[in-house]
Amino acid sequence: MVKRALITGITGQDGPYLAKLLLSKGYKVYGTYRRTSTPNFWRLQQLGIIHRITLIPADLSDMSSLLEAVTTADPHEIYNLAAQSFVGNSFDAPLLTTEIDGSGATRFLEIIRHLGKNIKFYQASTSELYGATRQSPQNENTPFSPNSPYAAAKLYSFHMTRIYRNAYGIFACNGILFNHESPLRGLEFVTRKITNSVAKIKLGLQKELRLGNLETKRDWGFAPEYVHAMWLMMQQKKADDFVIATGETHSVGEFAQEAFAAAGLDWRTYVKADQRLLRPLDVTHLCGDPSKAGRVLDWKPKVTFGELVKLLVRADMERWQKYLNGEIFAWDAPNYPSELDIVSRTVSREGKKPATKIAKLIGRLHRG
Ligand code: NDP
Ligand code: GDP
Repeated sequence: MVKRALITGITGQDGPYLAKLLLSKGYKVYGTYRRTSTPNFWRLQQLGIIHRITLIPADLSDMSSLLEAVTTADPHEIYNLAAQSFVGNSFDAPLLTTEIDGSGATRFLEIIRHLGKNIKFYQASTSELYGATRQSPQNENTPFSPNSPYAAAKLYSFHMTRIYRNAYGIFACNGILFNHESPLRGLEFVTRKITNSVAKIKLGLQKELRLGNLETKRDWGFAPEYVHAMWLMMQQKKADDFVIATGETHSVGEFAQEAFAAAGLDWRTYVKADQRLLRPLDVTHLCGDPSKAGRVLDWKPKVTFGELVKLLVRADMERWQKYLNGEIFAWDAPNYPSELDIVSRTVSREGKKPATKIAKLIGRLHRG
């Protein structure tokens, strides 16, 4: 029997890696995408799998489109990867983030419950749930303490996944994944922002790199290994929740230092701290304990921190070199203006702060 999988967020970082893995295992893969004004399939093109995926238009905020996606794909497994996944942006769009990252999972769980079929459900949960915790390393028993609208929304979907598992016997599991990176990572995330800048600086296309908080620490792993853990969770007899991490933590500054060193550059010459890139509230220290995943799933991370940094730098160097040689290929960076350009044209958070002004405006709108 050919297994069918439905992946939401097929245009993001993890979706294409997971799709590639499932295709290699003989699955028929359906992926949801949403209409964007600029086509957005470069990652599926880079992995060379776009023609092997059946695409379904669906938005996590739109119940009818999700119902259509599930009835069309008739999946054995649903991997809910779609999200407004950028923590920084969740402070700018908290309600949208709640709608997508919080309620989105519940919509799927309700569809599964109503259809009454044995559809397995994977929810993309996150280390951001630990937020302000002082415990380290964090495992499945560490109390959650979300520190952003993103984490609060994901906390809701984490619990709904667990609740539907216990209340209705649905095979529903949470992967509590720590940060995972790859050459397909979005340019706004700090790792890819750094490695893309390193490549441009090395090739004389950029002069400096501005970053926010250099002290925060993350447990960074390699995305293709992490999607493998998602699949393993879905093959267990019993649904459960698992931390997926490397068990090592490094600061943003260390990442930058390694990345510049990989290109033979001294990071201190190029990196500038910029207040505008600080978050209203940040998560300062994440370090995961993946021992349960090791024990139950037989999953272990292989790519080390040093290897990860080097492979990201290498990928961005190669792409910019190809670009300079006049080659045309699907890729995000050339169309992305410098982030600083965007930041300097964006209303600053300080400019937004006077909540009373906004409250007055909302009040006026309500009064008509
Ligand atoms: P990306 O941001 O790269 O991809 C997110 C995907 O969700 C994109 O395909 C995006 O579509 C889609 N999406 C966003 N909003 C909607 C919507 N309203 N309806 C339908 N689709 C939508 O994230 P990753 O691939 O890196 O992460 C996958 C999941 O894992 C996310 O849920 C993320 O929060 C979570 N996670 C990620 C971690 C990481 O380090 N990468 C760590 C822990 C959890 P579009 O391309 O059109 O924007
Ligand atoms: P997150 O862990 O999901 O928030 O992943 P990010 O890659 O967006 O951010 C990781 C950490 O890097 C956070 O603590 C950020 O505050 C910090 N950071 C410092 N400078 C930057 C920056 O310029 N961009 C981003 N995205 N993060 C930065």
